[in-house]
Amino acid sequence: MRLLMMGPQGAGKGTQAELLSEALSLTHISTGDIFRANVGHKTELGVRAQAYMSRGDLVPDELTKAMVTDRLGQSDVTTGWLLDGFPRNLAQAEWLESSLQEAGTPLTAVLLLDVPDDVLLERMLTRGRADDQGDIIHRRLEIYRTETVPMIDYFGKMVIHVDGVGNLQDVAHRVLRGIGHSDVHLSR
Ligand code: AMP
Repeated sequence: MRLLMMGPQGAGKGTQAELLSEALSLTHISTGDIFRANVGHKTELGVRAQAYMSRGDLVPDELTKAMVTDRLGQSDVTTGWLLDGFPRNLAQAEWLESSLQEAGTPLTAVLLLDVPDDVLLERMLTRGRADDQGDIIHRRLEIYRTETVPMIDYFGKMVIHVDGVGNLQDVAHRVLRGIGHSDVHLSR
């Protein structure tokens, strides 16, 4: 199974991606986590990405695509994966689809967590990450609307809308139902 997890910052993408990838035995790939690890280790990629991340902007596609190519080339992805935070714009989406077609490993579904703005803002403010501060939060939401939302039309019927309000397990069960796997048990 090859899944994309979509949703605005604060929708619970990362937490759901972790829970679901474990339950479905998929490799969880978070581009945000990979970027943060690179920033932490001060790699060349991290140094280049940091300026964009600290403003709440997207890291340029060329850097991001190279990183994803590298990650999807590793051996732990052959049995299935859940991509969290990628793609984030139409150019990335088109690139991913054509790379996957070429490799003969098309997407299974795109999961979209729907959460109203007031809930998002509150969650981000309580999470308090460096890129979760006032202006940057607004910048990230604006980028989500202008750059990421157009992907919903692009992926069309592949998109499964899931109500993202509620506790972790309830939301995860909704996702599992959405992909026809209500029989799968959550490990926590
Ligand atoms: P996230 O944890 O997914 O919100 O990602 C944190 C930050 O990493 C984002 O605000 C971007 O600066 C960068 N980032 C993560 N994924 C992508 C992507 N697919 N394209 C460009 N930048 C990204």
